[in-house]
Amino acid sequence: MNNLERRLRSYRLSGLVIHRRDMGEADRVVTLLTPQRGRIALLAKGVRKVTSRKAGHLELFTHVRLQVAKARTWDIITQADTIRAFPGLRTNLRRTSHAYYVAELLYYLAPEGEGDEALFSLALETFEHLERAFNLLLVSRWFEAHLLRITGFQPQLYICPACGEPLDVERTNYWNPAEGGALCPRCGAARKGSRPLPPRVLKLMRFLHTHTFDHVQKLSLRPDVLLELEEFMHMYLRHVLERDLRSLAFIRRLRQEMGGGSND
Ligand SMILES: [Zn+2]
Repeated sequence: MNNLERRLRSYRLSGLVIHRRDMGEADRVVTLLTPQRGRIALLAKGVRKVTSRKAGHLELFTHVRLQVAKARTWDIITQADTIRAFPGLRTNLRRTSHAYYVAELLYYLAPEGEGDEALFSLALETFEHLERAFNLLLVSRWFEAHLLRITGFQPQLYICPACGEPLDVERTNYWNPAEGGALCPRCGAARKGSRPLPPRVLKLMRFLHTHTFDHVQKLSLRPDVLLELEEFMHMYLRHVLERDLRSLAFIRRLRQEMGGGSND
């Protein structure tokens, strides 16, 4: 292969490492979220050998710049450089657990092969907040809200999807993921899988879906309200993803072992 051919058969790409899995003896399939091509899985050959120079750049949660060679199944990473390493996500277990959660949601919800600048910016911004913010629960709830909005899975929070009437936020409505979100008391009470949705939770959901993190972090919320919201959101996500998230078990275990850190 001459130089021109090699150039035609390769491309540059940058993105966040959101998933990795081992392949064979020394290889690894690395999944990235990229602004240009959405979610993309690439092969890192020999990356698990101690001599690999690429390995350090392909850690989870790293923002990397890659040179990639086209191949038949997975394209192959030929060169990797770190743009930003987010070390704070690796040195603190609570921050790590939330970063896993964010990465796992991106892995399942980011469209493959379809670039989205807004989604990529959200992911980058969320990692930045998780590295520094005091209230990690709030960062994760804010991220979920915007992830669902951008990917088109936003729950209904304003109009009852069953009867089309506007929801009265001062009353107790019902949460029903299979029906699309919040249902009015009349429709919600009778439906299977409904759960009463307190006004404080619906108000908070609306606020998170429509505000930047700068606004959201100024809220003073009781930890139990955030944990309550977490339950409603996980109920919804379980329905959308049709699975339980592995990272959630990690977050819960950590919370138990560390004695219920109020904001984690
Ligand atoms: Zn209704």
